[in-house]
Amino acid sequence: MFVSTPFLVILALGVFVMGTVVGSFLNVCIYRIPWQKSVIWPSSRCPRCLGEIAAQDNIPILSWLSLRGECRGCGEPIAARYPMVEALVGFLFVGAFLIDVVLAPRDTWGQAPMFGLAQATYHAIFLALLVAATFIDYDLMIIPDQITVTGMIIGIGAAVFWPGLRPEPSHAATALSGLGVGLGGMAAGMLITQGVRGSASFVFRREAMGFGDVTLMGMIGAFLGWRAAIITFFLAPFLGLGHAAWKLVKSIGKRIRGGQLSSSDREIPFGPYLSMAAATVLFSWRWLWEGWARGLFGTLHVLFWWMMGVNVDGP
Ligand SMILES: [Zn+2]
Repeated sequence: MFVSTPFLVILALGVFVMGTVVGSFLNVCIYRIPWQKSVIWPSSRCPRCLGEIAAQDNIPILSWLSLRGECRGCGEPIAARYPMVEALVGFLFVGAFLIDVVLAPRDTWGQAPMFGLAQATYHAIFLALLVAATFIDYDLMIIPDQITVTGMIIGIGAAVFWPGLRPEPSHAATALSGLGVGLGGMAAGMLITQGVRGSASFVFRREAMGFGDVTLMGMIGAFLGWRAAIITFFLAPFLGLGHAAWKLVKSIGKRIRGGQLSSSDREIPFGPYLSMAAATVLFSWRWLWEGWARGLFGTLHVLFWWMMGVNVDGP
């Protein structure tokens, strides 16, 4: 693959456009999957006038801008979230292209490896699934299995065919070890989430996190391996702090005004923050692993064997 800068810029633009098209499809998934509706048929309609949305009004981002956010037939406002999701997925895809192709280590000819394209695709699918999970969880406090189970199958299955897809130290040499890393990551993600969920439910006497968060973490582990999944799980609450604080301020205000708190006043969806954390870990992994995580897991490894009574010299 040629590495001349203009060529890379054109490729990146193409990747962005592809991302917006996938984002447009994800908008349909976010809207329909929770209601068990087909995401392929029928075509999109305006919820008010039921007019079918014509092809020229269905171009990601651009159509919304040219229609100024209103249905052509009846003037019903179209939420700005639609073009924003399209742009978000566009940028995420460009991010995957950057880390896996543009910034990938060069071969001896000074060229980006073709294999990087397979990795970028693998990560783009992962990011698309995270976006769908994020917005459905944000809207309805559920994460459908259609997203997470599909993700587990793709995350594990693709790395059986190309065992080297996952980054260091989770990349594998054989199909069997690729399968093992995927299953191990999935199990670790689900176990840690279910463990914390079970203890929190016991302590607080009400459901903390949903089972959707467990399957979402299973998907994250399937794509990224167990180490990155565990870091994701501990990073997510920090990313959710702002939302939790805002919710707390709102519910205190409600109590002062004498209102009754409902359960939705106390809950925030965790899926969006798990997803954001997973994307953060994915994009920073090369530096995170070399600069910090390798040492951390080395220390934990020594500690573990030391506690088991085994004499260890070092990682
Ligand atoms: Zn309309």
